[in-house]
Amino acid sequence: PPLLEVRDLEARVVATARPILKGFSLSVQEGEVHALMGKNGSGKSTFAKVLVGHPGYEVTGGSVAYRGKDLMAMAPEERSHAGLFLSFQAPVEIPGVSNMDFLRMAYNAKQKARGEPEKDPLEFYAYVVQKVQQLKMDSSFLNRNVNEGFSGGEKKRNEILQLAVLEAELAVLDEIDSGLDVDALRDVAAAVNHFKRPTSGLLLITHYRRLLDLIEPDVIHIVADGRVVRSGDKSLSGTLEEEGFGAFN
Ligand code: ADP
Ligand code: MG
Ligand code: MG
Repeated sequence: PPLLEVRDLEARVVATARPILKGFSLSVQEGEVHALMGKNGSGKSTFAKVLVGHPGYEVTGGSVAYRGKDLMAMAPEERSHAGLFLSFQAPVEIPGVSNMDFLRMAYNAKQKARGEPEKDPLEFYAYVVQKVQQLKMDSSFLNRNVNEGFSGGEKKRNEILQLAVLEAELAVLDEIDSGLDVDALRDVAAAVNHFKRPTSGLLLITHYRRLLDLIEPDVIHIVADGRVVRSGDKSLSGTLEEEGFGAFN
């Protein structure tokens, strides 16, 4: 089965019953990088949040299969233990908890849920340092509190470290390019490219083409008013650049 198969997904905001996703469909195979593009307010972040089981949204129709399993029937923690990872547009700071401890707790929780061996602090240290080096990050990252005092680029790279440590199988990165200067964007893109693996998939949500010049997607989806209105190869981003999202309405 595909890594992710979304069919005619419909979802609304719980608090207001306002429908946001109105028949959202896409399919991601293992090893693929997909980009979701669309105007602000088109429903991209809502789609990402519905995938991970955010309690603010209620699914009212359609289906989502993750490696052939009904994702919507799984609790949010089960989804993350099964390899689904969502980065946040505004990553949270966790005062008083070091990045190292946070990563080890998250990693061991996942291992435990999967019936796989946990790592003690020494084993985990060796494991995480290797990831940090692969991502060409500074290991001082590990001793700092989660996201506290991190620059925009550091927070984004820290999220890539999180998904590498957790061995995410489907990573959804929501606007990891927002607010980054050219150098920070290049570093983040390099970390993302490093994460690509033949058995995992990547869903990049972005407004901007510049990220897609650095992380080449296999498929681009244009989202408008709660659904995918066009899917194609990366030449779609050229049309976007020239004609804007209006070209797809
Ligand atoms: P995008 O990420 O494409 O910019 P969003 O998914 O954030 O779009 O939002 C889609 C629409 O749904 C917007 O009109 C937004 O205001 C609305 N929306 C999303 N979440 C909520 C919520 N929790 N409460 C009210 N409206 C929401
Ligand atoms: Mg938005
Ligand atoms: Mg958004």
